[in-house]
Amino acid sequence: MISKNLKHIKSTLPENVTLVAVSKTKPISDIQEAYNAGQRIFGENKIQEMVDKFDALPKDIEWHMIGHLQSNKVKYMAHFVNLIHGVDKFKTLKEINKQAKKHNRVINCLLQAKIAKEETKFGFTFGEIESILASEETSELKNINIIGLMGMATFTENKEQLTEEFLSLKNFFDIQKLQTLSMGMSGDYLLAIKNGSTMVRVGSSIFGHRNYNH
Ligand SMILES: *Cc1c(COP(=O)(O)O)cnc(C)c1O
Repeated sequence: MISKNLKHIKSTLPENVTLVAVSKTKPISDIQEAYNAGQRIFGENKIQEMVDKFDALPKDIEWHMIGHLQSNKVKYMAHFVNLIHGVDKFKTLKEINKQAKKHNRVINCLLQAKIAKEETKFGFTFGEIESILASEETSELKNINIIGLMGMATFTENKEQLTEEFLSLKNFFDIQKLQTLSMGMSGDYLLAIKNGSTMVRVGSSIFGHRNYNH
């Protein structure tokens, strides 16, 4: 089932769009199945869970942290994480830089933009992102590379609202001249792509529904 789902999703993606298979809460055997079907990029939202899976699985997997970050746990993934999507505090960028330096690495990061109308979503305002990208303090962080932005739209089926939220991020993204725009999940990834996404984070459409909500 997983390989069939993957094949289907891939057939819907334009060439310039990267698929992150979101494997949070799913067992190693599911990830191995997706791996055997050719998938190499996986996303997790809990650092400890990602570390355990990294240890158990083939080392050519690219691991993406897509969850909300606690600065004090960054050290556990600094030796292998490929892309951190959900950076929403400057303090976290500094911590990622510090930990990356210890491993002589440069860690790719996305700044999370707040695009949803919901109160619960994390993220920077566009103004805050502009300041971070322009600041000298940021340019001194040599062990991080801010390659793009990440956004989560409101949890709604209202396509007009989703389009509006995705487009606002896409327009802002274009002005910043960054490479990667991570937006779109199982329910809205096609709409996100239509509105300029270059990286989609798809979980349940590949691995099936999760038992508990993360
Ligand atoms: C869980 C999660 C996803 C994937 O959600 P699905 O609806 O299962 O595709 C994408 N992005 C983030 C940040 C997530 O936490």
